[in-house]
Amino acid sequence: SKFQKNILITGGAGFIGSHVVRLFVTKYPDYRICNLDKLTYAGNLENLRDIEHQDNYNFIKGDITDQQFIFDLFAKEKFDAVIHLAAESHVDRSIKSPMDFIYANVVGTVQLLNAAKETWKDTQNGLFYHISTDEVYGSLDDGGYFLESTPYDPQSPYSASKASSDHFVRAYHNTYGLPIIISNCSNNYGPNQFPEKLIPLFINNIKNNKPLPVYGKGENVRDWLYVIDHARAIDKIFHHGTVGDTYNIGGFNEWKNIDLVKLLCSIMDDKLGRSAGTSEKLITYVEDRAGHDLRYAIDARKIMEELNWEPSLQFEEGLSKTVDWYLQNTEWLNHVTSGSYKKYYQEQYEKN
Ligand code: NAD
Repeated sequence: SKFQKNILITGGAGFIGSHVVRLFVTKYPDYRICNLDKLTYAGNLENLRDIEHQDNYNFIKGDITDQQFIFDLFAKEKFDAVIHLAAESHVDRSIKSPMDFIYANVVGTVQLLNAAKETWKDTQNGLFYHISTDEVYGSLDDGGYFLESTPYDPQSPYSASKASSDHFVRAYHNTYGLPIIISNCSNNYGPNQFPEKLIPLFINNIKNNKPLPVYGKGENVRDWLYVIDHARAIDKIFHHGTVGDTYNIGGFNEWKNIDLVKLLCSIMDDKLGRSAGTSEKLITYVEDRAGHDLRYAIDARKIMEELNWEPSLQFEEGLSKTVDWYLQNTEWLNHVTSGSYKKYYQEQYEKN
C-alpha cells in the first residue's frame, strides 16, 4: 500500500468525529483514514462533503455492535490504529432509553477491543485510542477540578455507559497488554453539532423566535471547548501520548448555563440586527433534568504541560464563529431538524 498507516476512525460522521476525520485526512496524506459509522440520527455524511473525494479517505457504513461484521472488517483491513468515537452521546436520550447506550457504548466498544486484540496479537503493532467524556467523574458540587486520577462516579445512564467502556479499555490493557490511550474531554461546541445539544438548539430557537428551555435555574456549570481544539488535542495525544495513560482535555472555560445563554442571546441579537435584550425574552425555565450534575471542570494541565497543547480560541470568539456557521448553513440545519428529530423535539420539550 502507498499509505504509511491504515487508521480506523469510528463515529466519523458525527459531530466530533467529522472534525477529527477532516483534520487527519487533510493533515496526513500518508495515512489512509477509514470512517466507520452506522449513520444513526446523529451521523450525517454532509459533515464531510468537502473531503469525501480525497483518495486517503474511505467511508464504511456499519454497526460496531455487529461482531461478525467487525471481525471481518479488521481481518480484511488490518488496521494499524483505532480512534474510537462512535457512541450514543445525548444524556436526555439515555434517560429515556438506557439500553441503546449499553449496546452502542459498552458492547460496541468491547467488540472493537476484541477485534483489535485479535488483529495485533503477536505483533508490536496497534493503538486503541478511546475518546471519552469528563462526565464519568461525576459532579463537582464542592469545588475542585477533575484530574486524571479522580475516581469514577458516573451519575447518568450516558456517563455510566461511557465509564463502563473506559473500564473495559483499561482492562484490555491490563489483562491482555493491548496498547490503549483514553482521553476524557469537557463539553464540546462548534459547527456540525446536532441541534438537540444546548448551544445549537438555542441558536436555532433564537433564530426562529422559539422558547429557550433552560433546565432548573440555569445554575449548572459546564466547561466548554471548541470542537476543533478537541480534534487538535486528539491529534497530539494520538501521536505523542503515552500508551496506557489517560489525558483530560478542557479549556479552563467554565460557564454557568444561564450566563452562557445570555451571552449567546446578545451575540445573536447583534448578528440578527435585533435590539439588545430581544432574544433573552425567549428564556423559559423548565423542570430540571433528573440527576442533573451541578458542575464539571477539567484540570487540563497534564496535556498542556506534557504535550504542549492549548486551546486556540477564546470562548466568545468560538461562540461567534459557531453562530455564524449555523446562520450560514441553513440547509444543513433544516435537513437535520426535520423528520424524526421533529418528533423527538416535540416529545422532549412540547409535551404539555
Ligand atoms: P455524535 O452523537 O454527534 O456522533 C456519534 C456518531 O457515532 C454518529 O455519527 C453515529 O452515527 C455514530 N454511531 C452511533 N452508534 C453507532 C454504532 N453502533 N456503530 C457505528 N456508529 C455509531 O457524538 P459526538 O458528540 O460527536 O461524540 C463523539 C464521541 O465523543 C462520543 O464517544 C462521546 O461520548 C465523546 N465525547 C463527546 C463530548 C461532547 O461534548 N459532544 C465530550 C466529550 C466526549
